[in-house]
Amino acid sequence: MTARIIDGKVISADVRARVADEVKRLKDEHGITPGLAVVLVGNDPASEVYVRSKHKQTNEAGMASFEHRLPADVAQDELLALIKKLNADPSVHGILVQLPLPKGLDSTVVIDAIDPAKDVDGLNPVNAGRLASGLFALTPCTPLGCIIMAKQVHNSLEGMNAIVIGRSNLVGKPLVQLLLNENATVTIAHSRSRDLPALCRQADLVFAAVGRPEMVKGDWIKPGATVIDVGINRTPSPDGRKDKLVGDVAFHEAKEVAGAITPVPGGVGLMTVACLLVNTVRAACAIHGLPKPAV
Ligand code: NAP
Repeated sequence: MTARIIDGKVISADVRARVADEVKRLKDEHGITPGLAVVLVGNDPASEVYVRSKHKQTNEAGMASFEHRLPADVAQDELLALIKKLNADPSVHGILVQLPLPKGLDSTVVIDAIDPAKDVDGLNPVNAGRLASGLFALTPCTPLGCIIMAKQVHNSLEGMNAIVIGRSNLVGKPLVQLLLNENATVTIAHSRSRDLPALCRQADLVFAAVGRPEMVKGDWIKPGATVIDVGINRTPSPDGRKDKLVGDVAFHEAKEVAGAITPVPGGVGLMTVACLLVNTVRAACAIHGLPKPAV
């Protein structure tokens, strides 16, 4: 039997609709319009696409969207001065600096400068530490999307065996913390793990965030497991004309074994911006001392 496809298009549209409801409620009941500021340094074409999509979806959810563009050769102090201004601006509840930054800029220093209360990318060490301590935190958007997708299949992840392949600060590590908060039992795998296929075969939930095209094979998957594929890899198409996107999981093999699986494209990637909107609404509520929103 082939696996159920976990459809990122449908789930992200639902999340965005729930964000729009909460934004309307915040406006109607409290006169607050959540605002997201996105800072783009340089003109990397992939980053331009992401920033345009964030701007469009922020507006569609009824939030205020502020875009700040700086040249690739901007001085770090100038970028830090902009962040300081946004930290102090009461109409801005979320600040996102599009990564990667051009050479010469230190992303660690830049992320550290963002007010943790407005750090909607969840990358500031204060938020990473709060998440690890089980406290309220703004968490990175992609792992948040992974949890929402897994919970489309399982009402509760409690007691399930999960494996997270990859331990980056952006995806793997925060995903592990979110799974622990859901009371899953978590194995963290990485490039030095031994016998990854055997580790993977024990998992009810497989999260692949590696950056290696189709590394996770069908026979690594426990029958009936739920597979969430974070990877976005460009590989040449068979005719060599246009690149095609593939995940970290060999989708066509894995879908014959798994119970449910996310496709690439059309899976986790679509959840990331939706979760950025979620974080902006959560940040706006926390900044104004309001309870956590219903999204
Ligand atoms: P990253 O920072 O490069 O981290 C990759 C992780 O994979 C590292 O922890 C690395 O282990 C591990 N790894 C590498 N080779 C491995 C192997 N052969 N076996 C087991 N583990 C291995 O990447 P990332 O930023 O987490 O991104 C991972 C993937 O997700 C990429 O394809 C990226 O494009 C995609 N992504 C998608 C979204 C989205 O919106 N869907 C968002 C972010 C990232 P070590 O720590 O030992 O080096």
